[in-house]
Amino acid sequence: MSLDKWDERFIKHAKEVSSWSKDRTKVGAVLVRPDHSIVSVGFNGLIPGMDDSTCLCDREFKNRIVRHAEENAFWFGRHEPSFEGYTIYIYGWPGPCGTCSSEIGMARLGRVVGAFNSIPNNDWLPSIEAAFKQLDEVHIKHETYQEHNDYETWYERNFDYERKIS
Ligand SMILES: [Zn+2]
Repeated sequence: MSLDKWDERFIKHAKEVSSWSKDRTKVGAVLVRPDHSIVSVGFNGLIPGMDDSTCLCDREFKNRIVRHAEENAFWFGRHEPSFEGYTIYIYGWPGPCGTCSSEIGMARLGRVVGAFNSIPNNDWLPSIEAAFKQLDEVHIKHETYQEHNDYETWYERNFDYERKIS
C-alpha cells in the first residue's frame, strides 16, 4: 500500500488534531467515510470537567481514565448509522491499542492507518501489537507510516514489535 493524496491530507489532519491534546503523549484520530468526507475527529484527553493540570500529572491515574483519540472520534461520530468500510487515521502512535482496535472491529471499519514520528514511551507497545494481531484476524487492513523528522515525508514500515523495542 502507499499513501495517496487523501491519505496524506488525513494524516496531516490527524497530526493537527493530536496537537490539541494537553497530554504529554499527543494522539489524534480522524474517522473518514469512503467518499473522503470526515465523520469526526478526536484526541486523547480527560472527560470535560476534569482538571487537566493536576490529573495529567499523575500518570498512573491518568492512564486508567484517559480517553483515547479513537474513542473520542467514535463518540463524536456516534450518530453515523454505520461505520462499515470506513477508515480511521491515527497520528502519534503506530496503531490503536487493543481496546480501541476492538472498537474498530465492532464498528467494522475497513482500514486503519497509523502514523507517527517517534514513540514517546514503550508502555503501550504490547497493546498495539495485540491490536495488530486482532485486526489481522478479522481482516481489517492496517498500515503504519513513520514520519521522517518534521518534513512530513512518510515512509511505510512494517511495524515490527520485537525490532522496535530493541
Ligand atoms: Zn486506545
